[in-house]
Amino acid sequence: MTEKLLPDHPKDLEYVKRNYEEVTGRIALAAGRSGRKAEDITLLAATKTVAPEVINYAVSLGLRYIGENKVQELLSKYDEYDLTACELHMIGHLQTNKVRQIVGKVSMIQSVDSLKLAGEISRQSVKNGVTTDILLEVNIGREENKSGVFAEALPELLEQTAALENIRVRGLMTVPPICDKKTEVLKYFDRMNKLFIDISAKTLDNVSMDFLSMGMSDDYEEAILSGANMVRVGSRLFGARIYR
Ligand SMILES: *Cc1c(COP(=O)(O)O)cnc(C)c1O
Repeated sequence: MTEKLLPDHPKDLEYVKRNYEEVTGRIALAAGRSGRKAEDITLLAATKTVAPEVINYAVSLGLRYIGENKVQELLSKYDEYDLTACELHMIGHLQTNKVRQIVGKVSMIQSVDSLKLAGEISRQSVKNGVTTDILLEVNIGREENKSGVFAEALPELLEQTAALENIRVRGLMTVPPICDKKTEVLKYFDRMNKLFIDISAKTLDNVSMDFLSMGMSDDYEEAILSGANMVRVGSRLFGARIYR
């Protein structure tokens, strides 16, 4: 995905604390405006490029979900995360040949967009004696070269993945197209919400539509107002990412 770098900030802990309070406060307000409670919305911190000690500090403030988007980075930080109070999710594009490296380590894989990938998660989960929660990732903007299944292919993928062993489908995830205007991104959020509601209305074995994961630093409040109950926030918590 394209990264929009915000002005850099000192990544000191006070800064993270202020951000965490601001983001959780805004989530509570947006939850209230959408007729829900703060605790109905799950904040997942997108922790790419963030040092484990900073992540663990955020966990000490009350953060309960973290997500990495690259297998290699996840593995290199794995031993240092404090996962006693916090769940680790995979939120980025995942290659089938890397699945075995993370099954058993992550609580959820949010970026499942093919039967091939789901099948491998199932196989590795069986092998490890675990059940892996997954979200199906939807390419709601129908963008070329972007992960996610198209909306019209979702019902079939849902049915196929739900039939696999040691997998539980827990909801949907999306990364909408980069939009210049907030009104534009709302259109995608609303489409996702509609898909989510439609699927939730059906009773499918092995599927529980618990999470609609959408909304990032620039639009998590809008996403909540459009029905998201999990938002993935990175730079608003930890500052601009520095890539080397
Ligand atoms: C980095 C990332 C986010 C968070 O992005 P920010 O704009 O920094 O909040 C959310 N979802 C995924 C899949 C990401 O890779």
